[in-house]
Amino acid sequence: YAKSQGRNNFQFYLPAMNEVTSRQLSLEAGLKEAIERDELYLVYQPKYTLPQHKLTGFETLLRWESNTLGSISPMEFIPVAEEIGMIELIGHWVLNQACQQLSVWHQIGHTDLTIAVNLSAKQLKTDLVSIVQAALAVANLPASALELEITESSIMKNPTDAVTIFTQLKELGISLAIDDFGTGYSSLSYLKHFPVDTLKIDKSFVHDIDSKKADATITTAIIALAKSLQLEVVAEGVENHKQLSLLTDYQCDQVQGFLFNKPLTPDECDHLFFKTAQAI
Ligand code: C2E
Ligand code: MG
Ligand code: MG
Ligand code: MG
Repeated sequence: YAKSQGRNNFQFYLPAMNEVTSRQLSLEAGLKEAIERDELYLVYQPKYTLPQHKLTGFETLLRWESNTLGSISPMEFIPVAEEIGMIELIGHWVLNQACQQLSVWHQIGHTDLTIAVNLSAKQLKTDLVSIVQAALAVANLPASALELEITESSIMKNPTDAVTIFTQLKELGISLAIDDFGTGYSSLSYLKHFPVDTLKIDKSFVHDIDSKKADATITTAIIALAKSLQLEVVAEGVENHKQLSLLTDYQCDQVQGFLFNKPLTPDECDHLFFKTAQAI
């Protein structure tokens, strides 16, 4: 097609394509070295109950500070890690690090805190169960302290395998959450087949909850659905008091978001433990 349009079209398309390709190649090359170069690290975003604002635990979020490329968002590098077959190695590293960190917090007395770890669809294989079991054993943590988050769209890539693995994970005693709930256009009937504990309302609904009727309606519908299925419901991306007050009125169980904290380094989490009452 481009050829039939004449030579100039090549000059128009090629630079853009080269840019994408070289970015992709740099990300791929960088990721392959990232672990051994110590460029990956974890941050932890606190979760709080409503209406009391009691700290329940943290969601683990992966960060990459590349020597050559600077800081890269997980939205950009996780898909690359999936494409080049590195997400299992990286995901394994995340799981172990997160469990080690929670173990330290349990040892200093915060034994009620839980840790949530995000999983990629590619990690939903049977060896995940033994990897999780080993991570808990090494960190000397009870299974009840660990929650795994998986997006609705990841589950739908292979629902049959997901049910099998979820069932085995549940047998270990860990909790399972469906992340970005409401964005995956799937049939709701799958919910009754999955042994999940928690629905996480996607931040895109929370964002305009106070200004867009449809977003408020979807949010209240997800909360009602969760309650009727006896699931815990967590809202992510809470940025202001208006959103918080609506979610409190709607009886959402837990919240996380920049209004409370951005994702924190372990040192910042330690600092948080010293605050007796929350400012919010
Ligand atoms: P997610 O699991 O839905 O995580 C929530 C995202 O919302 C995080 O983005 C978090 O920093 C951000 N966030 C938290 N509070 C607020 C807020 O109040 N407002 C707004 N606008 N955003 C908020 P982040 O850290 O960039 O991660 C993006 C996504 O990357 C995650 O979405 C998750 O899908 C993926 N991800 C992050 N870490 C991992 C990981 O270790 N493994 C896998 N497989 N995926 C990960
Ligand atoms: Mg998540
Ligand atoms: Mg989410
Ligand atoms: Mg998300």
